[in-house]
Amino acid sequence: MTAKPGSAPGVENPHDPVGTPPVAGAAQPAVSDPRVLRRYLFWFFAAFITVIFAVIIFNTIQQFNDVTLLVNSRMGLPLAQRAAALIDGDAFEKLTKTLDPQDPFYEETRLKLLRIKQDSGCLYLYTMAPYTDTVHLFIIDGSAEPGDPAFSPLGSKEPLYAYDSAYFRTYAMKTPQFSKIHPQMDWGILISTYVPIFNSSGAVVGIVGCDFDAADIRSRIVAHVIRQMLLLCMFLLIGFYLYRLLLDAVKRQNLALQEMNRKVLAASEAKNAFLTRTSHEIRTPMNAIIGMSELAQREPCPPRALEYIAGIRNAGANLLGIINDILDFAGIESGTLRIHPAPYETASLLHDVLTVARIRAEEKALALPTDIPPDIPRSMVGDAGRVRQILLNLLSNAVKYTDAGFVKFSAYATPDADDAVRLTFVVEDSGIGIRQEDLPKLFREFVRIGEKRRGGTEGTGLGLSIARSLCRAMDGDIAVRSEYGRGSVFTAELKQTVHDRRPMGAVTRAAEKRAERQRAGFIAPEAELLIVDDLPANLLVAEGLLAPYRVRVTTCANGREAVDLVRERPFDLVLMDHMMPVMDGVEAARAVRAQGGERRTVPIVALTANAVSGMREMFLANGFNDFLSKPIDVLELDAVLARWIPAGKRRAAVPEQKGL
Ligand code: ADP
Repeated sequence: MTAKPGSAPGVENPHDPVGTPPVAGAAQPAVSDPRVLRRYLFWFFAAFITVIFAVIIFNTIQQFNDVTLLVNSRMGLPLAQRAAALIDGDAFEKLTKTLDPQDPFYEETRLKLLRIKQDSGCLYLYTMAPYTDTVHLFIIDGSAEPGDPAFSPLGSKEPLYAYDSAYFRTYAMKTPQFSKIHPQMDWGILISTYVPIFNSSGAVVGIVGCDFDAADIRSRIVAHVIRQMLLLCMFLLIGFYLYRLLLDAVKRQNLALQEMNRKVLAASEAKNAFLTRTSHEIRTPMNAIIGMSELAQREPCPPRALEYIAGIRNAGANLLGIINDILDFAGIESGTLRIHPAPYETASLLHDVLTVARIRAEEKALALPTDIPPDIPRSMVGDAGRVRQILLNLLSNAVKYTDAGFVKFSAYATPDADDAVRLTFVVEDSGIGIRQEDLPKLFREFVRIGEKRRGGTEGTGLGLSIARSLCRAMDGDIAVRSEYGRGSVFTAELKQTVHDRRPMGAVTRAAEKRAERQRAGFIAPEAELLIVDDLPANLLVAEGLLAPYRVRVTTCANGREAVDLVRERPFDLVLMDHMMPVMDGVEAARAVRAQGGERRTVPIVALTANAVSGMREMFLANGFNDFLSKPIDVLELDAVLARWIPAGKRRAAVPEQKGL
């Protein structure tokens, strides 16, 4: 059991922003929804207008308050205080009781107030006193001469509702007060200051009131507000115009994006179709090259010829690897690369991978020590092919970039959820290493680092990027730690479901057992097989590979012939190519299934060079039972034959019959 990848100190895990796109889901340009944008813009403008109105109203109130305060404090207060200072409080108190206009104090004070008022420019200057709880009286009016309609004679009654709260506060607080609200009253719109009149015992016996006309100020402020409103309306009109312009631009941009999106999708579909076609076109001759060189290697040949054939086979296998990488990359890009889980034996998988790595390591005289605890669960459910691909990529890179020393392989399993484990694979080498500044570039597609230094090692720069995408698709990742000139450590982690919890034991022994099983093989001389392929070379390869099984083979060149043959006589298994003239494999499989009766159940295996992701599902959905990719892998062929040739027709191979 060990630490997870990336948790070791110093481990670089380059999740670079321009890394491989996620396995599922094609990258597509985002298209903004115009309705959402419209809603946003509407609310933006609504909020904008509300704020502007609030600002104007607040501003108006503020201006009015400022003006009121200014008038009251600078003009009203000094005036009323001057008037109050001239009034004898006791004489005033007496006058409020007698209300005698002949009282010399009345006339004398009235004239004094009139003089003060004339110099000041205020509207009204007067004194008031309480009479009853609900009525106050005008005592001395210094605003006009008697006889003037605006003049209030001594003792004029005034109902209290006509006064604002500041008036009453003056009695209660015994200090000067200012009016704050300016309603339209009988005397106009007023800004009022009130100053108390005290008698000799300090009681408030009345007040001096001083009013300035607010109508003019108010009309000026109203005019100012109207100007502001007009300005706002103008802004709104301009804003609305700009809003329309913006909306139109967004709409146009949206249409352009949709069009671009459509083109991208069309291009991606065209690319996939192209890849499907090209993959078929390339893999078909590859099948012939690899298959025939495999058959040729089984023939008695001079050693030099065998060497050449081995060269052809290796070159073919390399080329096939590159083609597979490019197809995988295209699959990842278009989001069609899928993981196909199925049960597999852990030890067999590790043995297969190590066998390949060991051959490569031996060629370069590198040691390949392993550290694989036997307690890893015996069998898992996962995509064995993809796990093998990841490990082979890491191991073959390690061998490729190491000239002397070792490549070490370790594997660990850590329990995860109930029925799952996290498998951690560590591939360590004593090779050329990677510079720290190059680590983040490592997983980018087509990036090969230090190409000059390596003197032309082969590769496309796709392997690691694909391996990381595959790991991520299996809920894991790849991390790397490296010291330039001394070696690298790649750690791949992925999640697998446990199928059989028992320990797998030592890899070599389990694998040997498997190898024994392979050697046992079988023959099926009574089994009838039909191979359908339009290329005679492919038919030859398939026949050659089937020869050791001693099955009876019939061949034909297209789907139409295959349908007729299946109608005429029963077959135990049909190996059907996909793309053929006259009638292709998919149509032929459907036609066979449509015949009904026994033909409905004849096993049909797709034999195709088209290895693009998603093909397996397509074949299974169209009446095929299984899938065998070309160039044919002998182990896969063996598994398919064992699966589909009826058990009653299979017999164990006697030693001289073993051919696998
Ligand atoms: P390639 O086909 O070029 O090997 P990969 O994607 O597998 O592509 O690797 C990308 C690059 O990472 C390689 O070109 C190499 O520079 C570097 N690299 C990968 N593995 C190792 C390693 N074990 N040691 C040193 N460099 C490595």
